[in-house]
This record gives sequence, C-alpha cells and structure tokens, in this order.
Amino acid sequence: MCQLCSERQSAGTKSFQVVPGRDCFVCEGTLDDIPKMAEAATRRLRPYEFKTFAVGVTLPEGVQEREDELRSMLRLKGYETVKSQIARLVAGRISEATHRRVDKANPDVSVLADFGRRETMASSKPVFYYGRYTKPPGVAQRRTLCDACRGRGCTECKWTGFKVVPSVEGGLRKKIGRLVGSEKMIFTWLGSEDEDSKVFPPGRPFVVEIKGPKKRRLVGKFRSRVGGGLVSVSSGRMLPSKPVRIPSFRFETRIRATAASRVPPEGISDLHARFHKTAVTFDRPGSRPAIKTVYRVRARARGRTLLIDAELDGGLPVKRFVNGELVSPSVSEVLKTEVSCRSFDICRVREIGAFRFAEITWDKEKN
Ligand SMILES: [Zn+2]
Ligand SMILES: [Zn+2]
Repeated sequence: MCQLCSERQSAGTKSFQVVPGRDCFVCEGTLDDIPKMAEAATRRLRPYEFKTFAVGVTLPEGVQEREDELRSMLRLKGYETVKSQIARLVAGRISEATHRRVDKANPDVSVLADFGRRETMASSKPVFYYGRYTKPPGVAQRRTLCDACRGRGCTECKWTGFKVVPSVEGGLRKKIGRLVGSEKMIFTWLGSEDEDSKVFPPGRPFVVEIKGPKKRRLVGKFRSRVGGGLVSVSSGRMLPSKPVRIPSFRFETRIRATAASRVPPEGISDLHARFHKTAVTFDRPGSRPAIKTVYRVRARARGRTLLIDAELDGGLPVKRFVNGELVSPSVSEVLKTEVSCRSFDICRVREIGAFRFAEITWDKEKN
C-alpha cells in the first residue's frame, strides 16, 4: 500500500510494505492526486466569497471496494475511511491556501472533488435579501411569459422566454445578478400593483432568494434603469436564512376613479363615515372569503371624477374595492352608483408582524 493508505489502517502488530502510489493495492495512485485536486478545487472556489467551506469527494471505481475487501480480510478496523481521509487532506490544503475554515454542517460553499474524472465543482448556499422598491408608471412588477412561445424562447422575446416589457423583476434580476454573480433568483413580493401605478418611497417590500451566489452581501441601496424609468431599492439587508413567515401588511393608496353619475357632497361624507376600520368581505373565487379591513377613506369629487386616499389591508384588491366586484361593502356600493378605478398609486406600505426564519440547513440537492 502507499504511505497514506497504510496510515489509514489500524494494523496493530501487522505492518504493510509501503510502495509507490501507482502500485498501491487500494488506491492505485488515486491519493497521489490530492495536491493537484486540492489546487484545482482552490481555483474553482476563487470567484466565490465565503467564510466557510466543505469538501465532498467522489472516488474512482473500485477504491472503496478494495479497502472494504482488505479490511474484512485482515479484520482491520481502520482509523477513517479513504473518502474522509481524502476530504480531510484536500480541505486542509484549501484552508491553507484561502485562510477559510471548514464547516461540514452549514458551509457557505461546497466543493466536490471527483477523483475518478479528475474534475472539481463548486456550489454555494443561497442568500436571502430584503429590500423595498419604488417604481414609475409604465413598469410592471413581474416579468410575464412571452405570448408567442410561452416561455420556450423565440425571436419575439429575444430568446428570453419573457415578454420584452420593462418590469421591476427584470430590472432587479439584471442589477442583482451583476452584483452577486448569479441570475438564479426567486422573488417574493409583499403585494402588487398595476403596471401604471407609481410606487412611492419608502417602497414596496420584497424578498429575493439568490441561488448559487458568488458574493454573499448586497448593498442596501441601488438603482436600476428599467425602460425609460428608474427602479430604486432601499432599506436593503441580508436575511439570516430562508424566511418561513413573511409579515402581512397594510398600505396607503391614492385612487383616481370615475363614477357613472355625479357624486354629491353627501356621498363623500357617507364614504368617510362608512369606512373607518371597517371589515369588508372579499369573495375570492374558488377559495374561502377573506375578511379585510379598510382603515380609512378620504375622498374628493369633482363632477364624476373621484380622488380617493385610502388605507387598506394587504390582499384587498384596490380596483375591486372601488367597483364592488366580489367585494362588499365597496365604494360603488356606498355611493349607490357604478364607480370604476382608473389608476392607483402606492403611497406607503406598512409591515405588520415580523419575519420568521427556518432553522439553518444546507440542502445540497437543491443547489
Ligand atoms: Zn494508496
Ligand atoms: Zn418568445
């Protein structure tokens, strides 16, 4: 056996003849590759920012089997398996080169050294970022699938699979992608608005999970040019891990609406009186009705035109609250005339409750 392979066996009184690696019964020279593979793994980790790492090892066929055979034949217990010995030695060399420490349970990055194919692969633990965005009218919140190809990619969508229209999501993907070196992201939004809505500071909260990041930190404030306008992110911070509970929220909105007939001053006072911490029912199709609160409504009318400032619970659709479709009571219902929402802006979003986070786990399969 080679030096390293014989060191692994607790032979007691027995002793082994130490031979060059290529003549080793167990590894056939595999362990001679440790310095080269450790160097390759270190190079593979170079683009990544990390404090902790772990090493996984794949052995060439037969190595593990021959060690098992040897141990059962000679009744050896062994100090460690060949796999953990290699992983330990590779990790030691990486640690020396990068000054980072090993954390087998929850590493920032994980590197796989495949001694059979002489390849290395790196993956990193996802990071979670919280921020708030503001946007101008004419920018959608999410990207939507291309109508022509339904996401497969075609000339119409420039092979992205998504409609070529400006969106907050598209802008953030591009910008965050550049900052952290990965474009694999999953967004969670605290509510949504219309494409023609303006979102004012402090902005609407969102959380993004970034998979396979090279950098593990993201600035608290940045801007992204989207179409003709600017999407700004502020209040940004890294979250400690995956949030399992997202806060609920309420929001202030400014609504521009049109009534079917002129709204008299009594109508306005009815609105003010009717909506004051008032429970309204939203009959969600295919699901249980939701009870939401309308905290206050302040309205002005000029002829048939209405300007309404309202504070609503998250999840109550503004347009339905105005026109009364599936929502009761509504602005239409109180004014006893058909009112339709032309547009609405988001003036303030307030979170209620806190984030809750999952136990820190490392799921190699999903990365
Ligand atoms: Zn060996
Ligand atoms: Zn397409």
